[in-house]
Order: sequence, then structure tokens, then C-alpha cells
Amino acid sequence: MSPRFVLDPDELLDVTVPLSSSTPCWPGDQPFERKVTVDGGFVTSKLIMSSHSGTHLDAPAHLDDVFPGVSDVSPRQLVLPAILVEHPDSREPGIPEDLEGKALLFKTGGRKVFLTGKRAREIAEKGAYLVGTDAMTVDPPGSSNAHTALLGASVCILENLSLEKVEPGEYLLLCFPLRITGGDGAPARVFLHPLVEFRDSSRQKPGSSPR
Ligand SMILES: [Zn+2]
Repeated sequence: MSPRFVLDPDELLDVTVPLSSSTPCWPGDQPFERKVTVDGGFVTSKLIMSSHSGTHLDAPAHLDDVFPGVSDVSPRQLVLPAILVEHPDSREPGIPEDLEGKALLFKTGGRKVFLTGKRAREIAEKGAYLVGTDAMTVDPPGSSNAHTALLGASVCILENLSLEKVEPGEYLLLCFPLRITGGDGAPARVFLHPLVEFRDSSRQKPGSSPR
């Protein structure tokens, strides 16, 4: 049985970059725009943006002819245990051993830590479900090898996280991308929660002492 976790809403850390016209955007991509209309006392907005605006999920369908799209990414890839690691320098990061069914998040602090295709394949082979970063991309400039290796192995990528106030450690990741049918990616609201495993005492045999 997969582990269950205790969730306290007061402990959630919002690691989402706010979306506004000043949100940094990938060179050449559509910047975020919000055109507001007030009519009859009601406010509505027309949103113009990229599927990769702000904090967003790259679904496997970000690669041409690869599936699933963001609408069909399994909830197991969106709500899962996560390991957040920090990097002291710009060398390629080492990776934890136990990544099966987990998310691996890189806190680069703007130091531009990038993954090679080889390291990305290692992460996929260790069974990670998702790779996240506070950078705009997991690839070095001019390369897309890490994207290809991860998405090609059905590992989702979460980019532009806001991690300045978050310490390295283990968390529960909660990632809620917009459910765009067949989408290559989508902006997401993302939270981290300290990892506390729930042990169901009602499942213990009568007379056994609580652990
Ligand atoms: Zn992206």
C-alpha cells in the first residue's frame, strides 16, 4: 500500500510564482497579459499567456508525438513525496538514491544548475515521477537533452518554482496544473508540505502495542 500523509493547511508552503505582466518569460514566448473589463459591477479578465507561463508543469506531450497531455497526467505524478536538494556551486548535481515514485526538486538560487541528458536518464531510471526547479529550465543553454530524456520517460517537469524561503529536505508536493485537454503544459499552483507519514493505528492487531 502506498504511504499516506498528514496534511495541515497551516503548514503549506506556496511555491508558486505570482502571474502578472512582470513575471519573467522564456525568450520569444508569449508574456503574461491580463486585460480587465468592468461591466455592470462585475470584473472579468481576458488572459493572454503561454502554456509555460510562470510556475508550470511540462507534460510528456511537450515533446512532439509523446503522450499524455497535461489533462491526463496521473494524480500520482502531481501529489507525491518530494526531495528538495540545494547546490553549493554550478557543477552537475548529485542525485539521491531513493527516487522511486518521488519528485526531485532542485533549488538553484539562480546559480544555473543544469542537468545533462545522462543525469536526467539516471533520474528517470531511478523511478522518479517528476523533476522540479526554481530555474526557467532544467537544460543548459542550447540543449534540450534533459527535457527529452525526462519527458520521453514520462517524467514530468515543473519549472519556475519559488523556493527562496524553502529549506532543503523532504516534503509532500501538491501540484495543480490547469486541466488543458491534451496540453503540452499548463500553469500550476504548487504547494510543499513538511512530510509526516500517517500510521493508521486501527489497522494494528488487537493487543499489539502502538509503534
Ligand atoms: Zn516548460
